[in-house]
Amino acid sequence: MDSDSKVFVVSSDLCSGCRNCEIWCGFITGKRRGFAPDAGHIHLHSDMEGKLNIPELDCSGICERNEVGEPICVEMCPTGCLIFTNREDFERKRTSWEKARRVQPVFKLIVPWKYPYPWRELRKEEL
Ligand code: SF4
Ligand code: SF4
Repeated sequence: MDSDSKVFVVSSDLCSGCRNCEIWCGFITGKRRGFAPDAGHIHLHSDMEGKLNIPELDCSGICERNEVGEPICVEMCPTGCLIFTNREDFERKRTSWEKARRVQPVFKLIVPWKYPYPWRELRKEEL
């Protein structure tokens, strides 16, 4: 990853398997005529044991973006496990996520920047 170009990064341990990314990608790819997950550029697989959800992309971020530059698959991902980012932003996000999940267990399920409402660190005895 160079410092400017953006790539997709997936944190499979946070992927819930909801398939929102597939559904919305198929909707955009199909020119908004209906939901067609098979027609999209992202598809959900699982690991050999069937325990881990693994979104696989055949895409370089080609479709329309929202006001903060996210493609719809990223915007609609409820856990934030799918991001489209450059190296600087990725490193900043990874650092904030690692710190947040040590003090607030909810960030073992979602990323801290996805829903930017105030959250508090738990005390040691609450963890
Ligand atoms: S950026 Fe995401 S939503 Fe858009 S075409 Fe690619 S995989 Fe699909
Ligand atoms: S990547 Fe996000 S939207 Fe896609 S299945 Fe996983 S949690 Fe759902």
